[in-house]
Amino acid sequence: MDHLDKLEAQSIYILREAYREFKNICMLWSIGKDSTVLLWLARKAFFGHVPIPLVHIDTHYKIPEMIEYRDELARKWKLTMIYGENSEALAQKKTFPDGNVDRLTCCQLLKTEALKHTLSGEWNRYILDHKTGKYVLDTKRERFTGVIVGVRADEEGSRSKERYFSPRDKESDWAVEDQPPEFWNQFKTDFAPGTHIRIHPLLDWTELNIWEYIERENIPVTPLYFDRGDGKRYRSLGCYPCTFPVESTAKNVREIIEELKSGKFANIAERAGRAQDQDDGGGLETLRRGGYM
Ligand code: SF4
Repeated sequence: MDHLDKLEAQSIYILREAYREFKNICMLWSIGKDSTVLLWLARKAFFGHVPIPLVHIDTHYKIPEMIEYRDELARKWKLTMIYGENSEALAQKKTFPDGNVDRLTCCQLLKTEALKHTLSGEWNRYILDHKTGKYVLDTKRERFTGVIVGVRADEEGSRSKERYFSPRDKESDWAVEDQPPEFWNQFKTDFAPGTHIRIHPLLDWTELNIWEYIERENIPVTPLYFDRGDGKRYRSLGCYPCTFPVESTAKNVREIIEELKSGKFANIAERAGRAQDQDDGGGLETLRRGGYM
C-alpha cells in the first residue's frame, strides 16, 4: 500500500465505524476540497450510495459558484442534501457584510448558531427534492447526535487538538483539555447520553495528500481552486467578503501539487486568506470551542 492507500483505508474504516456506532449522524459538506474528498470516501465506503445526509450551513455569503457546484454534485450523486441557515440574523442584517457586527459575531451567528440549531432540528432545514431539483422544507426534525467533518490536523492550530471521535457537550461546547486518548488505533465510541460527537476521518491528511488523492481519483472540484487567467486562485473557500485568493498561476491539480511541493506556501498558512481567523486572537480556537466547524 502506498501512503494514499493507507490514508484512504483509515478514513473508510472511521466512516464505517461512525455509521455503525452512531445511528443519527450527518456529514458536513462545506463544498471545499477536504469535505469533497470526504464525500468521495463515503461513496467508496458504502459502495457508491451515501447513506448519510449531507448538511451545508449556508451563510448566504458563499461564493456563488460554490452553491452551483454543491447542487450539481448533489443531483448527480443523488445525495440527501440538506441546508440550514440563521434566517433571523440574515433578516435583521446582523452580519459583518451589512456592517452591523464584527466578523467573529457574524461567524458565530451565521455559522456556529446556524450549525447548532440545524443539527438539533430546532430551526428549519431545507432538503433537495430530486424530482424538482429544488429545496423544500424538511419535515423530519430529528436531532443529529453526531456529525462527520472534513477537518485536518495540519490545517490550523486548534484543529490539531481534535480526535477522530471528538465529544462535545449538549451545547456543542468543546472541552479541549478533556478528550479521550486514541492510542494504537483504539477509539472511544461510547459516550454518555446527550453527548454530541464530531467525527474527523481526514485528521491525518495533509493539504498535499488531499490534492494527490484528488488527482489519483479524478475527483471533481470547483474551478475556484485554479488560476483562470488573473494569476490568482483560492487555496481555501468560504464567504466572499472574508475569503481572498492567493497569488498563484496553478491552472490544474497537477500544477497545485507541484506548487505545494516547491515550498511556495511553506511559510504561509493554508487559511491565511480567511480574514475571520485573524480577527480571533486565539487562532480559530475561540470560535471552535463554542461549536464552530
Ligand atoms: S466568513 Fe465573513 S461573511 Fe461569512 S459568516 Fe464569517 S464574518 Fe460573516
